[in-house]
Amino acid sequence: AQERYASIRKRPAVSVCGRRIHLYMNAGLLADLPSLPSSGAEGVGLFRTELQFLIRNQMPKRTELAEVYKRVMDAAGDTPVIFRTLDIGSDKVLPYMKPNDEPNPALGWRAIRVGLDKPGVMRMQMQALLRAAEGRPLNVMFPFVAQYSEFTAARTEVDKALAIERKLGHVVPESVTIGTMLETPSLAYASSKFFEDVAFISIGGNDLKQFFFAADRENERVRRRYDTLNVSFLTFLEGIVQRCSETGTPLSFCGEDAGRPIEAVCLAAIGINRLSMRPASIGPVKSLIMRTDLDALYDVICDARERGEQSARESVMEYLRWNG
Ligand code: PEP
Ligand code: MG
Repeated sequence: AQERYASIRKRPAVSVCGRRIHLYMNAGLLADLPSLPSSGAEGVGLFRTELQFLIRNQMPKRTELAEVYKRVMDAAGDTPVIFRTLDIGSDKVLPYMKPNDEPNPALGWRAIRVGLDKPGVMRMQMQALLRAAEGRPLNVMFPFVAQYSEFTAARTEVDKALAIERKLGHVVPESVTIGTMLETPSLAYASSKFFEDVAFISIGGNDLKQFFFAADRENERVRRRYDTLNVSFLTFLEGIVQRCSETGTPLSFCGEDAGRPIEAVCLAAIGINRLSMRPASIGPVKSLIMRTDLDALYDVICDARERGEQSARESVMEYLRWNG
């Protein structure tokens, strides 16, 4: 399938109306990195670090992690890699950690909440990342931040790790860029100070959609019940685009929907210029972007909303059938 898109692999994703959309890949293992050149991705928009913890039967050592992270950065070369700090809990349970019996794990003690309550693991992971960079720029992103203070507290942990590394005489990255996932509706309404303070935001659409519609992403009965192109959800996402544009905060989308061509062009149409997805999706998504007038598609979405359609999907499909 990748061969089908080989002819556009090196071309930028520019829409018919001239908008440049940046496409990145999601990864979680070193074995994913060869897909970077073969897919034409511009970097790794989301490196899910929990996979390194999930594939072992004991807590990985700092040196082991540093080695993996270094090899990931080596493989990525000049293209950026955004490392997401450990996102465990909910659907991702470590076999060697005491399971906590929670009535609602998706709403429970997970991701950055664990990181902030038990900072030891996060600090160990940060040190591994700082060392792995060997002086190169480092990009870090926190999962599941629900309010501004969680972001600042997590960033303080990075600063502490940096101070320790300096004290130990280790080389530190030439820059550490710190952003966050936006996966809970609450963060979309944080103060403008937050949007000014954070270096970048990446929408975790899988979780964000689950919380927006109150529909468990793991529950077969409800997971497909609500459409990503539901006008309520698109309107909500547009609000995030608006907040980010007011403060000039770089915004990307890294949930699975970014890799679905129809959804991807709609995300681009409402103003999300960076999409991160599984590598095999880059070709099909790029191909559709290059055939689509995103401004016209935006009008299609707005018209569907004005007509009171619940989902823009039918109108979008109809438009793309003739124009995509
Ligand atoms: C998301 O929630 O959209 C996301 C990218 O994170 P994960 O799927 O790892 O929860
Ligand atoms: Mg998530």
